Amino acid sequence: MPRPSLRTRTVKRRNVRTPGSRRVVHYSRLSKPGEARCSACGAILPGVPRLKPSKMSNLSRSGRRPNRPYGGYLCSACLSSKIRAQVLIEEKAPQKASGKKQK
Ligand SMILES: [Zn+2]
Repeated sequence: MPRPSLRTRTVKRRNVRTPGSRRVVHYSRLSKPGEARCSACGAILPGVPRLKPSKMSNLSRSGRRPNRPYGGYLCSACLSSKIRAQVLIEEKAPQKASGKKQK
């Protein structure tokens, strides 16, 4: 039986075959999740804490991720460039259809 600190489900078990063809169990503590990264450029998102889901639920809603559209998914630079690109697309499209109405 493993020692008391390893008798918990927070410890991951891995069955390993040793060079002497003996089967042993290797234990490893669950590690912290990786840092949240921007989906467009891959930069580390500063507003997202690196915590387990159980610890995240203890935080306030605003402490978990930035409170804006795409917060915790895109970094601020990528979001602003995305918004600018979208605005340019929308400006170009209706001008052909209703260019006389605007003037
Ligand atoms: Zn980015």
